[in-house]
Amino acid sequence: MDRLPTDQLLALDRRHVWHPYAAMPNTGPLFAVRSAQGVYLELETGERLVDGMSSWWTCIHGYNHPRLNQAAQKQMGCMSHVMFGGLTHQPAVQLAQKLVTITPEPLQQVFFCDSGSVAVEVAMKLAIQYWHNRGKPQKQHFLTLRNGYHGDTFAAMAVCDPVNGMHHLFRHSLVEQYFADAPQISFEGGWDEADLASFETILQRHHGEIAAAIFEPVVQGAGGMRFYHPEYVRRTRELCDRYNILLILDEIATGFGRTGKLFACEYAGISPDILCVGKALTGGFMSLAATLTTEHISETFAQGEAGVFMHGPTFMGNPLACAVALENLNLLESYNWVTRIRAIETQLKQELAPCRDLPAVKDVRVLGAIGVVELHEPVDMAVIQPQFVQHGVWLRPFGRLIYTMPPYIIEPEQLRQITQAIYTVLNQE
Ligand SMILES: *Cc1c(COP(=O)(O)O)cnc(C)c1O
Repeated sequence: MDRLPTDQLLALDRRHVWHPYAAMPNTGPLFAVRSAQGVYLELETGERLVDGMSSWWTCIHGYNHPRLNQAAQKQMGCMSHVMFGGLTHQPAVQLAQKLVTITPEPLQQVFFCDSGSVAVEVAMKLAIQYWHNRGKPQKQHFLTLRNGYHGDTFAAMAVCDPVNGMHHLFRHSLVEQYFADAPQISFEGGWDEADLASFETILQRHHGEIAAAIFEPVVQGAGGMRFYHPEYVRRTRELCDRYNILLILDEIATGFGRTGKLFACEYAGISPDILCVGKALTGGFMSLAATLTTEHISETFAQGEAGVFMHGPTFMGNPLACAVALENLNLLESYNWVTRIRAIETQLKQELAPCRDLPAVKDVRVLGAIGVVELHEPVDMAVIQPQFVQHGVWLRPFGRLIYTMPPYIIEPEQLRQITQAIYTVLNQE
């Protein structure tokens, strides 16, 4: 591949390439990356940026990691892909075993897929088919929380926040699901039973047609970057059992240590019936996701009408992705990540606190290696994105939220560059 001059690259991009949540032609700010190393992104124009986003929660150990590269190279020398129907291989089996070991105990079966959205689709289909297997085919709906985000495919979109998720645009194509009010009590707030009322009321009225509740435990990500009380998760687990519905937890963003626990549901001391993971699974190397279930669920399938679970992606269990994911999880186990996350948390709390005094700022919150500055008004991306780049950091705000979830390997001076950039840019407003 010959390299194009940067201006030609950007011009061709604007003409031909869609970006996430972008218009065509794309008029938003756009920067070309040449390479990435550790916590740095290096632009075609020469600037080095400290990455405050971990490429959307994924790149937890930094870019171009020698151990992940080596795992990929070793696997490529053997096979990059084979179909998974009727065939199996070392990387998929060993990764499944590892996931079963590190996730809460009742989760024993792993369904591999290519992206978080598909992991959510798989979880929802598993729940519907489970109830069908159990002679309750009317249980086909879902209960979820406002301010949630579960992906961009149709079933996932139907359980995203109805306002942020723009349900009205797709009104005639989306199944209408049940939305409980978003939990209002913050992570460290005083618990109040009233927070559960909306969730419980819906279950009382509609449990007969609900297959499962699905939500993000403790941290609501792209639907608002909100942190809520773990007691909410613990109590909804009880309610799901009482009303005979399954609990699906979406830990695609929170999984693998980001919140200070390996999985955010550990804050509540509970486990789901179905768990979705993705994002950080391969350490940002490539796309891979998984849906885990319990034996209680999986054992009903052989007796069901179909006799099998009706899903099977072409690239299921891709050996290259599985080999890299396995190495990424070994890497995570090889050092004291809890201490690192706590250090990042402490520093984010200290250094983002001054933002509270800025007139543009509504709230500052930090949990684990996630820092959020919520503003009163939406940011102007065309203005703010280049300002962050000028300050040598990569941040990608959305709406009224400026947030950072840096790689776990970030050093204190590098993190300070991010927090100072946030303060300085907001102080200029
Ligand atoms: C990102 C995300 C998804 C969707 O994952 P994709 O890989 O983008 O399809 C689903 N749920 C949560 C909580 C996420 O953060």
